[in-house]
Amino acid sequence: MSRIEMKTPLVEMDGDEMTRIIWKEIKDIVILPFVDLKTEYFDLGLPNRDKTEDKVTIDAANRTKELGVAVKCATITPNAQRMTEYNLHSMWKSPNGTIRAILDGTVFRSPILVNGIKPFVSCWEKPITIARHAYGDVYRNTEFLVDGPAKADLVVTYPDGRQEKQTIFEYKGGGVLQGQYNTDASITAFAKSCFQYSLDTKQDLWFATKDTISKIYDRRFKDIFESVYKNEYEAKFADAGITYFYTLIDDAVARVMRSKGGFVWALKNYDGDVMSDMLASACGSLAMMTSVLVSPDGKYEYEAAHGTVTRHYYRYLKGEQTSTNPMATLFAWSGALRKRAQLDGLQDLENFAARLEKSAVSTIESGIITGDLDSLLAHPDKKVVNTSDFLAQVASNL
Ligand code: NAP
Ligand code: MG
Repeated sequence: MSRIEMKTPLVEMDGDEMTRIIWKEIKDIVILPFVDLKTEYFDLGLPNRDKTEDKVTIDAANRTKELGVAVKCATITPNAQRMTEYNLHSMWKSPNGTIRAILDGTVFRSPILVNGIKPFVSCWEKPITIARHAYGDVYRNTEFLVDGPAKADLVVTYPDGRQEKQTIFEYKGGGVLQGQYNTDASITAFAKSCFQYSLDTKQDLWFATKDTISKIYDRRFKDIFESVYKNEYEAKFADAGITYFYTLIDDAVARVMRSKGGFVWALKNYDGDVMSDMLASACGSLAMMTSVLVSPDGKYEYEAAHGTVTRHYYRYLKGEQTSTNPMATLFAWSGALRKRAQLDGLQDLENFAARLEKSAVSTIESGIITGDLDSLLAHPDKKVVNTSDFLAQVASNL
């Protein structure tokens, strides 16, 4: 059988532990037999990040800016325990943080829905995609513990020395204080990524903040979204038959719970953090959640939403068989191949990406599953298999 051709290589970012094992199995079992795969390989596994002083992460992100599409394996973000375990020279930063800082964008997460695994919210028929702004607000805050009577002011000093000042609060006793910020540039980039993603996937876009209470801060988000929409996307949305809809965050939550799904829900950083965990658990499993970082200039980095599944890896190292779910990592590959195919005009490759996803979903629907889905899937004669047997069944369906 002749293999499907590619034109431009994908940026391939390898990772750590169990997902590194799964990474190779996915390539060997369900991709390489069918596709003449072209990638530029960057080893983001922790030993190589340490060896290159994390230069490999920066190189991979910069190459993604040039080639346009990357696929990333889960990676360890080192902590004190990992410093000893891997004998590291330094506590390297989170690769995802480094890549996001270089590509600048928004993280889109959506569940993989299969028949037989019902979301806990029974009216959700189609996946809901959460678009989380990944910059600023409470994640870059400045906080104080105020330990007695005090006056707190907010002061802004411009380069010409001009100042604006407001009293926040006069404390009569102890308390807490917090400062937050965001920038027009980052909010605009967030808005553009959301409109572009909705257009690419032909889904309505919802956006929600608390602008009735936060009349300047959250209002700024609302206004920037509105102006990006009017200036760049209104006509394109009309052509695609999709809509943009703004509402208050509490109203949005109520509507989401009553909706059929099938739209993109843009959220500020904190709201996105909380709501994506809500969405993931309502849909069953982290291993059934896809994730893609989209930059405002249309660069894409596909990955799984889960980590390196350390507990399974330690069992694997002891020679035990593991039944780790490869779906999210497999969908990272199919997502990247599909995007590459669309950019390069390769219909065969685009069809392959769709068939790969369908084969994976129908494997689960036929009752062949990994351990994490055992309690979730309703099926009369389901069978829990190990990761490579699961992938072999996907290949056989293909
Ligand atoms: P995790 O790797 O997501 O795993 C947490 C638990 O969730 C696992 O022990 C397993 O539960 C279950 N699970 C997750 N993915 C699964 C899959 N594909 N199949 C079956 N079960 C799955 O999170 P973690 O253990 O907190 O973090 C491990 C490492 O991953 C850390 O070093 C962290 O820095 C890194 N991390 C990386 C990323 C990323 O690169 N995007 C994201 C998050 C975390 P059971 O053990 O109960 O089966
Ligand atoms: Mg969270």
